[in-house]
Amino acid sequence: MRISTILADDKVRLSCEVFPPKKFDGIAQACQVTREIAALRPAFMSVTYGAAGSAPGHTLAVARAVQESGVTPLCHLTCVQSSREHVRQVLADMKEAGMENEYIFGATMQAAGMENVLALRGDLPTSGELCHDFSYASELVEFIHTQGDFCVGAACYPEGHCDAANIDEDIENLKRKVDAGVSHLVTQLFFDNDHFYEFMDKVEKAGIRVPVEAGIMPVINKAQIERTVSMCGASFPVKFSKMVNKYANDPVALKDAGIAFATEQIIDLINNDVRGIHLYTMNNVETATRITNSISNIIASCNKQI
Ligand code: FAD
Repeated sequence: MRISTILADDKVRLSCEVFPPKKFDGIAQACQVTREIAALRPAFMSVTYGAAGSAPGHTLAVARAVQESGVTPLCHLTCVQSSREHVRQVLADMKEAGMENEYIFGATMQAAGMENVLALRGDLPTSGELCHDFSYASELVEFIHTQGDFCVGAACYPEGHCDAANIDEDIENLKRKVDAGVSHLVTQLFFDNDHFYEFMDKVEKAGIRVPVEAGIMPVINKAQIERTVSMCGASFPVKFSKMVNKYANDPVALKDAGIAFATEQIIDLINNDVRGIHLYTMNNVETATRITNSISNIIASCNKQI
């Protein structure tokens, strides 16, 4: 199914992100984790592309595990270091994966095949040759639409993207990207919901009308916190820093506190009528399970009222 169709009604939905492994011999394990998270029945599952050193070629293998579990996959695709020819090939592979599933599941499942793409620029490498076929995600969005009937999503940044001079400039660029053919957005992770609410006000004022999924990452260990700061620059509210400092030397307590913090963030978002929550699971089945279970009655109650 197209993600735009999944998000078309007014229901509250939880979706999940997983990442593929760095090495080929990690695929079986990543697919197993993916199947276990898929068993929680998220609305859809996204699979990253080349992020944090994972091999780009493994995205499709993990997306296939999502699809075979009966959950709609959303394949990330980046333009950094991708030639037009490479992107064309990845999209052709996605279509073909759908056709194989037509054979296995029947025509209806084929329609739910690899037709959802999250188009991203990717982080610029600090060294090595750069391919200049696409400079921005918006150019990738346009190109994907020339390659077939894909449903294309994109990323957005409640605290502004680090390359942009300020949040207003970033939102102007976001509007350009959405106008290029984006049907839904997923946010960078954030720890302060007020950043998201302020961002949504600006998004609305800019005339951006597509659904926006709020990206939430349960932070469950110290290494993850340090990585998060260096990679995405999300700011830490005092409340969050206090929690991290308090349990920094007690991994079990930090995990519990991190899961509780993310759950509280999600409940606050739902209370404020946010419809889409995208959980950065970091391939952690326990975390995904605990959060899903904690909010399932809340989501069911909201959706009963619609
Ligand atoms: P863009 O939309 O191209 O924006 C990048 C910067 O350029 C912004 O500052 C923007 O304001 C500016 N800009 C855009 N258009 C123009 C223009 N026309 N003129 C001037 N400036 C412009 N990375 C991975 O490698 N793999 C992944 O799977 C992955 N998944 C992600 C998923 C989500 C939900 C998010 C939020 C990020 C993800 N990333 C991933 C990281 C992402 O690739 C980086 O944050 C990257 O630096 C920006 O990507 P983008 O698609 O937002 O870029």
